[in-house]
Amino acid sequence: MGSANVVTEGRDRVRRVACPGSFDPVTNGHLDIISRAALLHDEVIVVVGANQSKQGLFTVEERVAMLRDVTSGLKNVEVGTFRGLLVQYCKDNDISAIVKGLRAVSDFEYEMEMAQMNYRLAEIETLFIAANPVYSFLRSSLVKEICRYGGDVSSLVPELVFDQLQERLGSA
Ligand code: ADP
Repeated sequence: MGSANVVTEGRDRVRRVACPGSFDPVTNGHLDIISRAALLHDEVIVVVGANQSKQGLFTVEERVAMLRDVTSGLKNVEVGTFRGLLVQYCKDNDISAIVKGLRAVSDFEYEMEMAQMNYRLAEIETLFIAANPVYSFLRSSLVKEICRYGGDVSSLVPELVFDQLQERLGSA
């Protein structure tokens, strides 16, 4: 009897997950993970980390604006920011799990450590989605570097992001 209750417990709850990151700027690799997370869960909150230590190319507000624009077609996706501990943000916003993309084995060690610590801290689960191999080499820092030296990143980021990158970094 008891075990049947355990299985059904929480079934009526909204399945709300967070996709955290710096998104400086959002790439097609991020979008792939966000849209796949949106297919699997009721609500996805994309959260941009706003801790002061990291100075990005785009301000947090600019990153949020780009994310809102490129996810506007995904009806169960919202965009927010967090300061401090991600697990605290999750607790405060009734988010039960963190969804992360895994690109390669090199991501694994760090992500495993974070996942275990976040569970230890607040019993927040972490779910991993295997990166689309088409984007497994793709990271925001690389996109910025290519763009800075005049390379073509138009197939790696949404059009709006491409335009903003050109404006900020495009060779004059
Ligand atoms: P990055 O600078 O590495 O792109 P972010 O902090 O913005 O880092 O990434 C946020 C999340 O998105 C992380 O879980 C990361 O693993 C995931 N991610 C980033 N790029 C990709 C990609 N190309 N494919 C799948 N997941 C990705």
